[in-house]
Amino acid sequence: MPTTVSEKALRIKPSSTLSITAHANALKASGVNIISFTVGEPDFPTPTHINEFAIQAIHDGFTKYTAASGIPELKQAICKKLKDFNHISYSAEQIIVSNGAKHSLSNIFQAILNPGDEVIIPVPYWLTYPEIVQLSGGIPVFVEGKRENHYKVTAEQVRNVVTDKTKAIILNSPSNPTGMLYSEEELREIAQVAITCDFFIVADEMYEFLTYGHHKHVSIASLGPEVYEKTITCSGVSKSYAMTGWRIGYTASSKSLAALMDGLQSHQTSNPCSISQKAAYEAIVGDQQPMLHMVAEFEQRKNYMCTRLYQMPLIQFLEPEGAFYTFIDFSSVLQHSYKNQVLQSIDQVVSILLEEYHVAVIPCADFGSEQHIRLSFATSMENIIEGMNRLESFLLCIK
Ligand code: PLP
Repeated sequence: MPTTVSEKALRIKPSSTLSITAHANALKASGVNIISFTVGEPDFPTPTHINEFAIQAIHDGFTKYTAASGIPELKQAICKKLKDFNHISYSAEQIIVSNGAKHSLSNIFQAILNPGDEVIIPVPYWLTYPEIVQLSGGIPVFVEGKRENHYKVTAEQVRNVVTDKTKAIILNSPSNPTGMLYSEEELREIAQVAITCDFFIVADEMYEFLTYGHHKHVSIASLGPEVYEKTITCSGVSKSYAMTGWRIGYTASSKSLAALMDGLQSHQTSNPCSISQKAAYEAIVGDQQPMLHMVAEFEQRKNYMCTRLYQMPLIQFLEPEGAFYTFIDFSSVLQHSYKNQVLQSIDQVVSILLEEYHVAVIPCADFGSEQHIRLSFATSMENIIEGMNRLESFLLCIK
C-alpha cells in the first residue's frame, strides 16, 4: 500500500504572514535596514512583575502536571475578570485554560462541529479561522463586511446565509486585521439571529483591552441570558499583556461544552505550561498599570500613523478603533504606473515596498481581502516614523 498523508493536512494553506516575515528576515540578516509592519505581537517585554511571579513558581517547584483544563486559582481569576471587565458571570467549571487562544479556538471547533457543519466567517477575517474550521470538519461560509459598514457584517447579511447546516458564527471584536469594533446594538442584532436560528457564537475577544478613544469593547455574552447560552467567549493574555510566547488562552462557555473541551484537551495536550499559568494568573490579578501604559503607547503610535497616512495619496483607510493594526485599501494604487510599469497586483506592491523601500507589510489576500495591506503599529515610534517616510516616498513616485 502506498504511503499517503492526510488530505486534511495537505489542504492547509501555508501562512503568507510567515513567508513575508521570512523574506524580510532574510534581507535583515544580509544587513538591509528593514522596517517591519508585519508583527502580530506587542514589541514590549512581558511586565517584570509577571516574569518574577513565574520565576518564583519555578523556585517553588511548580513544574509538574496540573489539571488539564488549568489551575483553580487561574480559573477563579479569569471568572473575576470576566465579571468585572466583561460583565459576564461564569463559574470555574465553565473555564478551560489552553495553550494560547489559537488552541482555545481549535478546542471550540472540535467540540461543536460535525462533518459538513457550516461556520459563518465575516470577511476580512484572521487568517487562521478558515483553517481551524476546516481541520475540525467544518465548512467556512464567508460573508463580506463592507467598507461602508466598517468591514463588519450586519444581522441581515448573517440571516441571509443561515442554512440548516449553520453551526456557528465567529465574531472578532476588536478585529484583526481591520481594528474595528462591533457596537452593542450591532451585537444585539446578530445575537438575535443566532438565538432565532439556533447556532453558536464564537466571540474571539483577544484584543478586548486594546481599544482607543471613546471606543469600548462589548462582550456579546453579556447581552442577556439567551445569547449567553449560545456564546463561547474566547480570550487570553497574549496581546494585552505582551505574553505571546507564554501560550495562555481560555474559553468560557456552558458547563457541558467546557466538559467536552476538557476531555479533548486532556488527550491532545494535557495542561498548558504550569509556569505560564502562574504568570497568566499574575497578569490578570496583579498590577494593571504596565498593560494600561502599553495601550496608551499603542494609541499614540496609531494616532501618529494615521496622521501620516491621511496625507498620503491613493490610499484609503479607517482609523483603527482597537487592536494594533491599520487596514489600508490599496485598490486605487493598482492600474497606476511605478517606474513606467503598471502595478497589477497587491503582491507586486508588497514586493516593491520590501525590495526597494525596505518596508515589510502584510498583503491581506489570506485575510479574505485582495486589495488591502495590513500595517501593525506594534513597533517603535522611531520605526513608524521612518516606515511612514518610506511608504510616502513610494506612493509619491506612482503616476
Ligand atoms: N485571535 C486573534 C484575532 C488573533 O489575532 C490571534 C493571534 O494573532 C489569536 C486569536 C491567537 O492568540 P494566541 O497567541 O493566544 O494563540
